Amino acid sequence: MIPLLLLSAIGAFVFTVGGGLIVYSNTRHLIEIRNWLDHSQTVLSTLQLESQRLDRISSSMQLFQATGDINYLRASESSLAAAQSGVSTLQNLLQDNASQRRHVDELETSIDDLARAVETARQSRAVPDRQLQASHNVLDVIQQEERGLLTQRSNESQDSSVRSLLAGAGYLGLLLLVLVVLFGFLIRDALRRRSFEKQLSVANDNLEATIEALERRGAEAALLKTTRDELHLCVTSAEAQACTCRHLQALVPGSSGATLIINNSRSMLEIAATWNSPASLADGFAPDACCGLRAGHLRWRSPGHSAINCSHFTGEPPENYVCIPLTAQGETLGFVYLTFPTQEIADLARGRILQVNEMVELAAMTIASLNLRAKLENQSIRDGLTRLFNRHFMAIALEREVHRALRSTTPLAILMIDVDHFKAFNDTFGHEAGDTVLREVAECFRQSVRSEDVVCRYGGEEFIIILPETNEETAIERAELIREAVGKLRVRSKGETLRQISVSIGVAMYPAPAHDATDLVRLADRALYDAKHAGRDRVHVARESVSA
Ligand code: GH3
Ligand code: MG
Ligand code: MG
Repeated sequence: MIPLLLLSAIGAFVFTVGGGLIVYSNTRHLIEIRNWLDHSQTVLSTLQLESQRLDRISSSMQLFQATGDINYLRASESSLAAAQSGVSTLQNLLQDNASQRRHVDELETSIDDLARAVETARQSRAVPDRQLQASHNVLDVIQQEERGLLTQRSNESQDSSVRSLLAGAGYLGLLLLVLVVLFGFLIRDALRRRSFEKQLSVANDNLEATIEALERRGAEAALLKTTRDELHLCVTSAEAQACTCRHLQALVPGSSGATLIINNSRSMLEIAATWNSPASLADGFAPDACCGLRAGHLRWRSPGHSAINCSHFTGEPPENYVCIPLTAQGETLGFVYLTFPTQEIADLARGRILQVNEMVELAAMTIASLNLRAKLENQSIRDGLTRLFNRHFMAIALEREVHRALRSTTPLAILMIDVDHFKAFNDTFGHEAGDTVLREVAECFRQSVRSEDVVCRYGGEEFIIILPETNEETAIERAELIREAVGKLRVRSKGETLRQISVSIGVAMYPAPAHDATDLVRLADRALYDAKHAGRDRVHVARESVSA
């Protein structure tokens, strides 16, 4: 574009200079012709004067001839002198025209002849008609040639004027054309620039939109990462659900919702955690009340898309909501419910639904693995029949309580309990009845202790209860209370009431006489043995260390 403009500028300059030169030369030519025309006019008027002088000589000579008045002769002589001076004027005027110069020389000769004839006429008084005629003739010749020249020059002048006019018009036309072309280039350039600016602005807008989208994606990815990290830190299902609610709230600001979990019997869904108090959501309903759970995948309810409502609402269902099943490892754990107070927030959620779904999947996996962990933990630390802690857990808990008692210098008691003549239950009423007795006794122990006490099944029909921060007196009191409570149990199996149950209890204390966890169990066992031997259904306290 720039070379083209430069070329145009140079072209315009050359053209202007060229045009100027043409106009200059035309004007000069015209001036020259005009000068020649003036020159011819001067020559013609000089010739005219010369002819008048000849006429004056002729008339003066005729008067002299008629009157003999010498004044007429003198007048002729003065006109003759003027005619001679006119000849030298003509000689000067026509010196560069060879043909006219020749004729002027002829005129000079004939005027000289006339002068001589006038001289002669002083005596003869004759009129020099012949010489006058000759001079007139020569004058006519010069006049005719000069007129011819005048005509030729005026024609030339006219031609030159036309040429100059045409050249001027042509030059002006071309100049206009050049200007139009240049203007065209400028307009084209301006239009191109404007279209380029438009494209640039569109490209800029696109770039800004892309950056915005990338930033949004980045923020969403960061939020998902935080969710994943925090879910990893959760140790209970409740924690994981609260964490999920928090992050869903951050992902869809302005929304409200809840996580709902299917209960153990798989008959009912209950609200586990919520954010922004979702209105009219029922707590406790059958799984088939939710269309999302029935469909087995994410389901939107919105006016333009799907009008069917779930039936898990206590009042009027909201306009826009979405139910996303919490599914992991092929098992449906419940669902996540999100509702939106305005169409804008619903649209925002639609735009982020992939991230919402991903978050729900993460939550489902976390909750499922936490449930599994809890189940496994339960299985590894609890006894399957009585749901009390098992012997393995008891050993760990006892070790921990001994250390705590040592640190806090508080006493620690354990009770070792054995059901008296338990074998007889099995033998008389069957093994099932024996199991029922064990379950009932276990429940009775659980009811009789504080929450910080640890009740364990030590094996068979033997149990250990760890009583932290308990002195001997209180431990004996507690043991008696348990023994009495067991004595009051009325257990039924297969429709018949079993005979009364009694337990023998051995009590041992830490830090004295027992000095560690093993010693504590041995002492309690010894005390229990003593209680058995003393007649059963009683409490015995270990008084001295086994190793002492
Ligand atoms: P003692 O008063 O001396 O303790 O007499 P006992 O019959 O209670 O004691 P023994 O050790 O002779 O019998 C314990 C019985 O408990 C033997 C075993 O078959 C039974 N038993 C152990 N574990 C279970 C169980 O899980 N269920 C049932 N039904 N019986 C069990
Ligand atoms: Mg026993
Ligand atoms: Mg027994």
